[in-house]
Amino acid sequence: MSLDFSEEESRRYSRNVMLPEVGRDGQARWRAARVAVVGAGGIGSAVLYYLAAAGVGQISIIDGDAVETSNLQRQILHDVKDLGRRKVESAWETITALNPHCRLQLHDLRLDAANIRDILKENELVLDASDNFETRLLVADCCWLDKKTLISAAVGGFHGLLMVMDPGPGNPCYRCLLPQGPPPAPQEGILGAVAGVMGCLQATEALKLLLGRKSDLTRQLLSYDALKCRFRHVQREKKPDCPLCGQG
Ligand SMILES: [Zn+2]
Repeated sequence: MSLDFSEEESRRYSRNVMLPEVGRDGQARWRAARVAVVGAGGIGSAVLYYLAAAGVGQISIIDGDAVETSNLQRQILHDVKDLGRRKVESAWETITALNPHCRLQLHDLRLDAANIRDILKENELVLDASDNFETRLLVADCCWLDKKTLISAAVGGFHGLLMVMDPGPGNPCYRCLLPQGPPPAPQEGILGAVAGVMGCLQATEALKLLLGRKSDLTRQLLSYDALKCRFRHVQREKKPDCPLCGQG
């Protein structure tokens, strides 16, 4: 891993490098990192922008949708001129304008059982910012079986959830908490700023993990209630009868 930075990179990342927890070594780790983000929507907009701004070297963006007017109240990577464009292309343009050092791998598709392993293969860390439980369970299963750490963020209404699935011994997986996902619910509103908060928290956890630090969310979930402006930690248990990580 090279510790050499160009003059422009040194200026760009000077406030990162000043942090004793980061330094040149941490900045070099971020530059060498390969991270996948599933979803370039409300949460994805915040997480992608901050990961790129921090100097993460390679980001795979996976999203199979086009930009719609109803996305614009929360999906801040996209704007009016992007209406009708593929979200991955719009995201590429915004992120590249911010940090051209960041290499972006674009996947304009929906993940399925046939393509997911190949797409996530070269990434050391996966961030789920998707908007449906079919994808969430698929990503959670694939990451667990392929021993990749997964950071999962979700929002609905004025609430947000964040958790980290580290496939180490004794740690719970996603299905320990939600074996089959929640029952189907009608589409609900989302406050855009709440999606932004959860994306920022997810980016922060990702950057810490890439520095080699442990996450406190491996055995807990973080719940955010925006109406009460309250964060809570809730213990997550490993279930012996879990369909994914349990015995048998
Ligand atoms: Zn489990």
